[in-house]
Amino acid sequence: MSRAFDFLVIGAGIVGLATAAELQRRNPRARVAVIDKEAAVAQHQTGHNSGVIHAGVYYAPDSLKARYCRAGLRATFEFCAAHDVPHRRCGKLIVATDARDEARLRDLAARAAHNGLTLEWLDRAGIAAREPRVRGVAALYVAETGIADYPALCAALANDIRARDGELLLGHEVLAIQERADEAVVETSQGALRGARLVVCGGLQADRLARLAGLETSLAIVPFRGDYFRLPAARSALVSTLIYPVPDPALPFLGVHLTLTADGGLTLGPSAMLALAREIYRPWAWQARDAVDALRYAGTWRLLARYPRAGIAELLHAASRRAYLTAARRYCPELVLDDLATWSCGIRAQAVSPAGELIHDFAFAGTARSVHVLNAPSPAATAAFPIAEAVVTRLLGEAPA
Ligand SMILES: Cc1cc2nc3c(=O)[nH]c(=O)nc-3n(C[C@H](O)[C@H](O)[C@H](O)COP(=O)(O)OP(=O)(O)OC[C@H]3O[C@@H](n4cnc5c(N)ncnc54)[C@H](O)[C@@H]3O)c2cc1C
Repeated sequence: MSRAFDFLVIGAGIVGLATAAELQRRNPRARVAVIDKEAAVAQHQTGHNSGVIHAGVYYAPDSLKARYCRAGLRATFEFCAAHDVPHRRCGKLIVATDARDEARLRDLAARAAHNGLTLEWLDRAGIAAREPRVRGVAALYVAETGIADYPALCAALANDIRARDGELLLGHEVLAIQERADEAVVETSQGALRGARLVVCGGLQADRLARLAGLETSLAIVPFRGDYFRLPAARSALVSTLIYPVPDPALPFLGVHLTLTADGGLTLGPSAMLALAREIYRPWAWQARDAVDALRYAGTWRLLARYPRAGIAELLHAASRRAYLTAARRYCPELVLDDLATWSCGIRAQAVSPAGELIHDFAFAGTARSVHVLNAPSPAATAAFPIAEAVVTRLLGEAPA
């Protein structure tokens, strides 16, 4: 006999867990279950990211990313404080190292002001006063940015869900999804589950889960791998804020940055290279199905053709620690090769259109009984609580707040 729930949520990353918690908040008596193929929560993007609570500098004005990031910043700080999740409002510096960077930084400053941020513009001397080890011609100081231990945040969400009689069905791989007139039936590696409504937050598998459910979408997830290095403990006080380069405005990646971690460390990363495995973290990993899907998809090749320089630069970063170091030394000349101890890597789920366009904003789709989160790249960890509110509103057919 298959078990029945009011709401099934596929994916125990931060978006799925925040969605389950929001469903319980709005429907305290509902039977809610979160399904994930892994044995623990936060095993993919949520557990392999930079750990930054973004303030919303970069995102196109009035986009979902811009709106949800601002609301998510507040909600994430509040949740961390209320649940003793390690976090810190450490601030961030975006550093321009030449005239082209400086022009892009002025555009970013205008965008950030439109998004409601208060920023400080620093000249060369202002940078030296704030971060003596950092060099640049100009910088933006963003006081609101912070860091959080996202896996700990997810553990706290999972505890809350269980405490309200929700279930976490870990080790359940979703194999098929069938929607009927009155329910969705989810076939898993441990048997069938039925839900009156279904939310799918599958991260790197979002496109496959959508197709499994019969949703027509032309988008595909293209995985981008990001490698991180960790600096030795003796160097973790090198900077006291997060240090970012000025990103290429055409790309959703923010560049190799120096990031303080919630456990007191300092990391450098991530790169952004096309990956041939969606969920395997060894260097140069590939997996037949993932590689075939990525290489057979016209959008992948059109994307590479659009950004050949960025593609080559990222390949160099992946192949050579020295190339990686050169990028970071532009703003922190004191870094040396011995500082770069291989640490971890994350793989981003980035939706790409068949024309090779990167889908910048969060994207959702739905059927009568379900909502699918199709594109939730950075800053979706920061924005998870507002994303969850929007998903639940859509699922329940309510008017947005
Ligand atoms: C390198 C990197 C750096 C980043 N830095 C930041 C940052 O500093 N700040 C920020 O806000 N955001 C950052 N992000 C983005 C952020 O991590 C993601 O946007 C966010 O974690 C997405 O959460 P999710 O729940 O949608 O996906 P995930 O965390 O990937 O969760 C998806 C879940 O679905 C499950 N699943 C998939 N298929 C199935 C199936 N068939 N059956 C059962 N379960 C399934 C998976 O096992 C997984 O647990 C970064 C991402 C990366 C990769």
